[in-house]
Amino acid sequence: MKSRTILAIIDLPGGETDETGRGLLSYASRLARYMDTSWGALTLTEPQGATLGEFGAYGTPEITVATGCDEQLDTPELLGKGLARLAQESGAGVIILPHNDLGSTLAPVIAASLGAALQSEVIAARMIDGALHLSRRALGGRVAEIRTWSGDCPLVITVPLRSLSQVLLPSVQPSTPQIKSWQPPAPGEPVTSRVVERIPPDPQTVDLTEAEVIFSAGKGCDKDTYDQLQELCRLLNVSLGVTRPVYDLGWCGFERMVGQTGRTVTPKFYLALGISGSMHHIGGIKDSRRIVSVNSDPKAPIFANCDEGFVADLREVLPRLLQRARQSAGGVK
Ligand SMILES: Cc1cc2nc3c(=O)[nH]c(=O)nc-3n(C[C@H](O)[C@H](O)[C@H](O)COP(=O)(O)OP(=O)(O)OC[C@H]3O[C@@H](n4cnc5c(N)ncnc54)[C@H](O)[C@@H]3O)c2cc1C
Repeated sequence: MKSRTILAIIDLPGGETDETGRGLLSYASRLARYMDTSWGALTLTEPQGATLGEFGAYGTPEITVATGCDEQLDTPELLGKGLARLAQESGAGVIILPHNDLGSTLAPVIAASLGAALQSEVIAARMIDGALHLSRRALGGRVAEIRTWSGDCPLVITVPLRSLSQVLLPSVQPSTPQIKSWQPPAPGEPVTSRVVERIPPDPQTVDLTEAEVIFSAGKGCDKDTYDQLQELCRLLNVSLGVTRPVYDLGWCGFERMVGQTGRTVTPKFYLALGISGSMHHIGGIKDSRRIVSVNSDPKAPIFANCDEGFVADLREVLPRLLQRARQSAGGVK
């Protein structure tokens, strides 16, 4: 296998690294170690200050700033071809992108332009007898598929966000990254596809598995508090979930039910209101980043399964929350 430099394409939302960016830096530095090769990062804006420091913390030797590419975010075909050209010019043989909307759009364009092998949703990579073995989820996640890469052509990898860990390996030497600038050549071909509009998802209708914030009603909600919670969710642009007994009452559709038989959710914030915390419900929420609960029973099992819990009566809490939300929305005082 030829020695191939690794290039990690890092998005800097608002000019800063986020969890995905840090995860990808960690991933690239580990892969470079396994493959015993050099690596670098590519960004569309120049990292500054603390953000640049983070690149250094992950031992990034070199950052290529592709200037003037920002406007190509609406023409991913052009952007992908430009990035492929940069990879070619810089001698990068392994290109890593996150498997998010942008990464999964650019990866096939880059791979096709480079005549590269494309491996999407790679969850792990290992060197065995000098060959790179890549493990990816296949058949809707039911099996893990191991593929090898011959190394005879470039390789484009996308990594699912849940497989990215921001871990800083103790063996990684912090660096002072060398910054290079690169400008894409003027596109020689007409643009065949362009993003014309981006419509943010409506939390009221978005699939709960994609929701970032969920407020859920349990049997501790009566019809009044449930209606108040619905209004609160609307005012705060939050998704509404329910437990099975609430679904059984017929107050909402099956798609709102969270838990073992319902949806498995992974929001950044899960608020459990009047939910006891049965294993059938907890099984569907345990990977939420932060779980906060409100229950009138201090012995409710939910308290052992949440980050923060409040012993309170929803009939007192919800009207107050709703009043605050209405005030912030400029409504009734
Ligand atoms: C095979 C199987 C699959 C299942 N799948 C699911 C599933 O997918 N999802 C799911 O949710 N359940 C599921 N269940 C049901 C599950 O076992 C529980 O019965 C259910 O999760 C309990 O819902 P709950 O917490 O809303 O109700 P309860 O267990 O009745 O809890 C209500 C809570 O509200 C509190 N409370 C009462 N009044 C107030 C108040 N005024 N203020 C504050 N707190 C108050 C109480 O202290 C209590 O802790 C499943 C069950 C089985 C057998």
